[in-house]
Amino acid sequence: MSPPPSPRRPATAIVAAGRPAHGPGAGLVVPPVFSSTFEVGSPIIYARQGNPTWSAFEEVVGELEGGRALVFASGMAAADAVLSAVPHGAVIVALAGVYNGVDSVLRDGVDAGRWQVRWVEPSDLTALELALAGAHLLWLESPTNPLLDVVDIAAAASLARAAGAVVLVDNTFATPLLQRPLTLGADIVLHSATKYLSGHSDVLLGVLVVGADQEQRYADLLRRRTLGGAIAGPMEVFLATRGVRTLAVRFDRACANAAVLAERLGAHERIERVRYPGVGAMISIEVRGGAAAADSVCRAAALISNSTSLGGVESQWERRRAIANEPDTTPENLVRISVGIEDVEDLWSDIAQALQVGE
Ligand code: PLP
Repeated sequence: MSPPPSPRRPATAIVAAGRPAHGPGAGLVVPPVFSSTFEVGSPIIYARQGNPTWSAFEEVVGELEGGRALVFASGMAAADAVLSAVPHGAVIVALAGVYNGVDSVLRDGVDAGRWQVRWVEPSDLTALELALAGAHLLWLESPTNPLLDVVDIAAAASLARAAGAVVLVDNTFATPLLQRPLTLGADIVLHSATKYLSGHSDVLLGVLVVGADQEQRYADLLRRRTLGGAIAGPMEVFLATRGVRTLAVRFDRACANAAVLAERLGAHERIERVRYPGVGAMISIEVRGGAAAADSVCRAAALISNSTSLGGVESQWERRRAIANEPDTTPENLVRISVGIEDVEDLWSDIAQALQVGE
C-alpha cells in the first residue's frame, strides 16, 4: 500500500489511507480477502495473524489517531484484549459512567477476585489522583455513554503517568475528528468501530490504537488478538473501510444536526434535562413523566429508529434503562439519541410529534 505523505489532514487521510499503491492497472480499493491461509514466505501465513483487508482499515484508523491500529471482532473484543493482559490482583481505575458492557466486565472481574476497581467521577481530578496510587490501568471514556460527561483527558493522563498507570481512552463517541487521545497522553485508544467509524449500522467491529513508537505494546496486543482468536471477518472490515471513507462528511452533518436539535429540545416543555456536551452527535434527554412516558415517546417515532447502538447515518433513540445491565446511575427516563444525517427539519418534526404522542 502507498506510504502516507504525512502530515495530511484528517479528511484526506480518511479518503486516501489504506489504498493500494498508485500505478498502471492498480485497483483503488483493497478487496475482502477470503483466504484462511497464505503461502509461506511472508510474515503472515495464517489469517488469524493478519489479512490485507484488515491492514487497509488499520492504516486509515491508525493515521487518524496518530498510531498503529489493530482491528478486532467488536469493541468488546478489543476491550477484552486489554483487560485479559491485566496482571492478577492489579488495581484498575475506571471512570464512573463508562459503557455498560465494560462496566459489567470490570464488575465481574471484581466478583471473581481477578482485580480491584476504583471508580471515580469524571470531574473529580483530586479523587482520581488518590485512586491512581498503585494502579495498573486507567480506563477513560469521553464523552461517556450515555450520560455524556466529559473528562479532561490530558490532565487525567498526566496524573496516571505520574502514578505509572497505563491510560486507555475509549474514543468511540468523539471520534479522532474531535479528539486524538494519543496526543493528549493516552497509551491506548479504543473504538467500537461498530459506531461512527463504520457508520452504517451493518457491522460489529472494534479497534485498538497504540503510539507508533510503542513496539512492545503493539506486539503484546497483536499476540493477544492472534491467540485469543477474537478476529474480524474480512467482509465486515471491507464494509467498515468503505464506511469510514465518508466519516468526515457524515460526522460534520450529524454534529450540525445535533446542535440544532439540542437547542430545540432544551426549550421543550416535555424535557426535564438535556445532556449535550456541545460537541459530537449524541444527545441524552430526560423526559417528564418517568420511564413509561420515555418508552411511549421512543415508540411514537416514525422516522427515528427505537433501537440500541449509535453512530449510523440513520437516527436512533432508546430509553437506556430498558437495556440489560445499564447501571442505576442512568436515570429511568433518560433517552439517548444518536443523531443521524437526515434533514434536521424532518428529525425535529418526528421528535416533536413523538413528544406529543408520548404525553
Ligand atoms: N465502547 C462504547 C463507548 C460503546 O458504546 C460500545 C457499544 O455500544 C462499546 C465500547 C462496545 O462495542 P461493541 O458493541 O462494538 O462490542
